[in-house]
Amino acid sequence: MRQGVQRKGYPPNGQIKQELEKKYSKFWLGNSVRGISLQPKDSVMVIGDQRYQLLGLDVVKVGVSALLEDDPRAPIAIYPSTLEMPGGPPMASMKDKVTDVLNHELGHNNDWDASQTLSTPERIMLLAEVTERYLSSDRFFSQYVESTTFDADPHKQLYRRVSEYWAELTRNYFGINQEKFIKEHPEDAALVAKWYEKVAH
Ligand SMILES: [Zn+2]
Repeated sequence: MRQGVQRKGYPPNGQIKQELEKKYSKFWLGNSVRGISLQPKDSVMVIGDQRYQLLGLDVVKVGVSALLEDDPRAPIAIYPSTLEMPGGPPMASMKDKVTDVLNHELGHNNDWDASQTLSTPERIMLLAEVTERYLSSDRFFSQYVESTTFDADPHKQLYRRVSEYWAELTRNYFGINQEKFIKEHPEDAALVAKWYEKVAH
């Protein structure tokens, strides 16, 4: 009874798992991701005097759980309000919505900070290349990245925007409009393709 209500219409885990395994290499999915959970309710985390609403676990990253459990891979948790992230294509189903968000979150888990695959020089190179793309005038325009204030400090704000920009690139590259994205943003698409390959080899 309550269980059904709490899941808020999320698709069955098996369906999501199958779809992800069909699309992604096991390296992208497993090397840097401990697991994926669909949370029934939004959650707020307090650090110091700041309150963070947990969305896709962008905020938590590896941190405490890695120390406790000796597993450096970050988990991904999806909350209901995560699914309201702007900029996604029109969604036919809840499964598509969840997959769309995971395309973004899996990008975070495989970025220069959270990846458990990339070497230190590779991490630096990835960050530099994504930053360069983000500072290019012909970059892919993500409403979410460009209009969100992530931090009052301008340096931290730039860093967060570059992080989110990378996740938005993976979201679109692996999304249902992949073909359109590759055609309209060849440089951004090539960047994702290049680093996806590196993770797999
Ligand atoms: Zn994000």
